[in-house]
Amino acid sequence: MELRLYDTLSREKRTFVPLDPNNVRMYVCGPTVYDFAHIGNARPVIVFDVLFRLLRHIYGEAHVKYVRNITDVDDKINDRAARDFPGLPLNEAIRKVTEQTGKQFHADVDALGALRPSVEPRATEHIGEMREIIEKLVAGGFAYVAEDHVLFSPQAMNAANSALPRYGALSKRSLDEMIAGARVDVAPYKRDATDFVLWKPSKPGEPSWPSPSGIKAEGRPGWHIECSAMAWKHLGEHFDIHGGGIDLVFPHHENEVAQTCCAFHRERMANYWMHNGFLQVESEKMSKSLGNFITIHELLRDWPGEVLRLNMLKTHYRSPIDWTMKSLEESAKTLDDWYRVAADVVSGEPAPSVVEPLLDDLNTPQAIAALHGLRGNDIAGLAGSLRLLGFLSESAAQWEGRKQQASGIDAKEVERLLAERTAARGRKDFGESDRIRDLLAAMGVVIKDSKEGTTWEIAR
Ligand code: AMP
Ligand code: ZN
Repeated sequence: MELRLYDTLSREKRTFVPLDPNNVRMYVCGPTVYDFAHIGNARPVIVFDVLFRLLRHIYGEAHVKYVRNITDVDDKINDRAARDFPGLPLNEAIRKVTEQTGKQFHADVDALGALRPSVEPRATEHIGEMREIIEKLVAGGFAYVAEDHVLFSPQAMNAANSALPRYGALSKRSLDEMIAGARVDVAPYKRDATDFVLWKPSKPGEPSWPSPSGIKAEGRPGWHIECSAMAWKHLGEHFDIHGGGIDLVFPHHENEVAQTCCAFHRERMANYWMHNGFLQVESEKMSKSLGNFITIHELLRDWPGEVLRLNMLKTHYRSPIDWTMKSLEESAKTLDDWYRVAADVVSGEPAPSVVEPLLDDLNTPQAIAALHGLRGNDIAGLAGSLRLLGFLSESAAQWEGRKQQASGIDAKEVERLLAERTAARGRKDFGESDRIRDLLAAMGVVIKDSKEGTTWEIAR
């Protein structure tokens, strides 16, 4: 099976060749835990879960390592903690916020049918590795200490006479343009406007750790160094795939590459850089001020997680998604049907018609079209393919039961009315049988008569 992936760095689809097929390694930037995750955040979770499942399918479950970090040190977390728990010491309040938000995140992504990554490292547990990388960068002349900060110098990187990548190569920006375009940066401790923070002083009461050599006061890490440290610790200096949303290409991923490659004298950090496109809601950018900001948690009240998952996968991961109610309703109908016909059958192998488009840079819309094709003629293949994609985690009865619960419909009452209707039809009292059908319809129940008898379901 040949997998081809689009690489943001080389701007082309390339055959995926792992560094070690017995240990395929992928890192994806995870959430900053300060609030409920929104439906845009669900996109990388679902997309890279599909890739994780596909890699496990190709290389074997034991041979794929997926790392997704949790950023638990950040100004947004500090602000939230101070606001929500004004009576507590800041560090305690921060712990409460990150624990609570981390649990919410897990509940959400479990419901979306996403497997837990092999490792979910937390930034605060990798401060030692961050310090180690920072010290290597200072020793190598790529970073410098100034006023209790440590700054990385992209200009030093690009001046180095070695096999390092160029700063700006991933995001296709030239350093000269960045210098010319940089706003006059007021930070007096920076030598150049393009320098970015690796380490900074903590304000009183904020979380703080012993600083890298040369700084007496305690401090805390910048954002970008976290991912370099966690990827290094769990995947090594050089690994296969690095992913995240398209918004992270610059500066976050550009800076990760710079840090890792300069610290370890490497030409590359990851061999394939993958980025999902952005999600907007009903054709508008999602934002709190527009009032169209939807959390995964809210959506899960109205829709099963697998409906959200299917709805996300109907669009190719690199294209923008327009998230609409209409599309959600269609996804729900499709899954209802698949659950009815496939959830209780023994799965066959995933069908080649589904796997092939996935191997072509995760072409999920085409894989979904193939699922519709299987519906008519290969239910075992449909079931196997749906399971590969992370669907059918419940039985048909559980799925239907949950829908009934959400709708408030009493299944026993429906069965009783159906029996009455069957009896009325038996005595050719069609006025009465129509009355009962209308009554059920008003309750939100759709009935279907066939040779095998009458079945019913809840109207979406
Ligand atoms: P954040 O917590 O904002 O750093 O985002 C966590 C992940 O969600 C990152 O991989 C982002 O690129 C991704 N992300 C954030 N907003 C969106 C969006 N509207 N559409 C798609 N991905 C997003
Ligand atoms: Zn990251």
